[in-house]
Amino acid sequence: MADRSKSRRRYLWDQGWRRCIWCGKHLTWASLTCEHMVPRSRGGTDKRMNLAAACRRCNMQRSSNPWVPHPEVMEWARRRGLALAGLQAR
Ligand SMILES: [Zn+2]
Repeated sequence: MADRSKSRRRYLWDQGWRRCIWCGKHLTWASLTCEHMVPRSRGGTDKRMNLAAACRRCNMQRSSNPWVPHPEVMEWARRRGLALAGLQAR
């Protein structure tokens, strides 16, 4: 379990995620947490397109609420060619 969560964080880090998907705050390896775009409680999976980086604070506060991603971070992900799940579902 811990290993899988670390490899998800590693994936996000390796993709170049350095900002929180929700608030845009800059992230370090220590502060990066793995966010599920579609929460697991709503059927979201651990597939890569459902993963985004978020700061610990947002990750905890968001829970499974439908927050709107930070526009600059979204734009970065789009340019990076990262498909993110759940964005069109809102
Ligand atoms: Zn944040």
